[in-house]
Amino acid sequence: MFNFLKQRKTNKNSPIYLYNTLTRKKDLFEPIKAGKVGMYTCGPTVYGYPHLGNLRTYVFEDILKRTLFYNDYKVNHVMNITDVGHLTNDRDMGEDKVEKEAQKEGKTAWEIAEFYAKAFFDDEKYLNIIKPNIVCRATDNIKEQIKMIQTLEKKGYTYKTSDGIYFDTSKVSDYTKLSGQHLEELKEGARVEINDEKQNHTDFALWKFSPTDSKREMEWSSPYGIGFPGWHLECSAMSIKYLGEQFDIHCGAVDFINLHHTNELAQSESVTGKKPWVKYWIHGGFLNLDGGRKMSKSAGDVLTISNIFLNKGINPLAFRFLTLTTHYRKPMDWSDSSVVSAKNGYENLLSKISNLGNIIGKINSQWKEKFVSSINDDLNMPQAMAVLNEMVKSDILPADKLATALDFDKVLGLKLCEVIQKKVEIPASVLVLVDERETARKGQNWAKSDELRDKIREFGYEVKDTPAGQDIKKL
Ligand code: AMP
Ligand code: ZN
Repeated sequence: MFNFLKQRKTNKNSPIYLYNTLTRKKDLFEPIKAGKVGMYTCGPTVYGYPHLGNLRTYVFEDILKRTLFYNDYKVNHVMNITDVGHLTNDRDMGEDKVEKEAQKEGKTAWEIAEFYAKAFFDDEKYLNIIKPNIVCRATDNIKEQIKMIQTLEKKGYTYKTSDGIYFDTSKVSDYTKLSGQHLEELKEGARVEINDEKQNHTDFALWKFSPTDSKREMEWSSPYGIGFPGWHLECSAMSIKYLGEQFDIHCGAVDFINLHHTNELAQSESVTGKKPWVKYWIHGGFLNLDGGRKMSKSAGDVLTISNIFLNKGINPLAFRFLTLTTHYRKPMDWSDSSVVSAKNGYENLLSKISNLGNIIGKINSQWKEKFVSSINDDLNMPQAMAVLNEMVKSDILPADKLATALDFDKVLGLKLCEVIQKKVEIPASVLVLVDERETARKGQNWAKSDELRDKIREFGYEVKDTPAGQDIKKL
């Protein structure tokens, strides 16, 4: 009986299908707790300005979250800030990216992390990305990470080398379940391995010892010695701390599947003994540069919101608009002409919306249905944008078009309401008359139209006819 009631509550929402990397198909979304979603997104490594590729991923995650809100789910969204432990070589070798940047800029590692975390949140604001409920930093959760290593040690998943404590991936029989990689592929990778103390080349660091010949700025004492946590550990420790041992959604771009998310998954399920750790793994495609190369911070790509948009006086929401024209799982190409397409496309949409006048009518349920079926089909935003365009061209009342567009914008996040100069709240009784007058105008019944104009005036509103339809203001 209890389960039945729970199910009924879930069914109140329209079905949402999401492509799940774990099952390799579009799955019906059914959260662990009816009506509530626990969502974790891997946050930025804060050693440089986020590039447009990173931001494409954060926009897709925001669209996912807004789609869940639109479907009446409550979302608890947690995101980390990687401010320690991400090394220049993703396989736990090389320098710490944040400490390296600190030396380059002549600042402390703490200052670097603070500065670039702020830069990241500024960009999120420009892109109208809703802030997570919880933002947590790796350096604020060292105790939790050490505790996790201790549990893994007790359960027999760890071993020690001269440079750290490692996770033994051979103890996890389904280690490659997320990536679907074959052992042959993994052995191929082993040829370029540079740490020969690892028992298996897929093993990864849980704790790295501080070097003996130089002093690190960010280091902590632990039962294993002074050092710092491995990159993958923070996400397991903090997501479990804030969302529990099992939760609904985990996101990132596709570069995280084979290594970062595979390792997070292996250590999380080993530590709790519960499967699945995460029900839905959702990954976004890359933003590539001309020629197909992935845009990357470590390769020095500096295509940022400031360089490409703000410095040229272009609203960064044009970038948000552009990302919605490609499906989130498809690769998206960036070339010199992309900024012009983004600007023109966004401005064109804004002008269509501002031509709808300033009367906010009723949301049109048929168009809404089409919109919902697009977004709920694995976030098909190109189709949702096509629905918006068709709706604006359709023959429903301009006031209803405006109301419907503003409703869609709860998901699109393109700040469409900002183009309505003087938003007027109109009582329902007056709206009925405005609708009636629109019908009279369409039927060229000018006498009736004038009569309705006078009635509207009696309610204290003045109506004017413009090429876009009726414009109304309070007297
Ligand atoms: P990072 O700051 O490098 O840890 O990455 C932050 C987020 O950006 C992660 O979710 C990455 O998967 C994602 N990402 C990195 N490069 C790209 C790219 N070229 N296109 C799309 N997403 C990316
Ligand atoms: Zn992560």
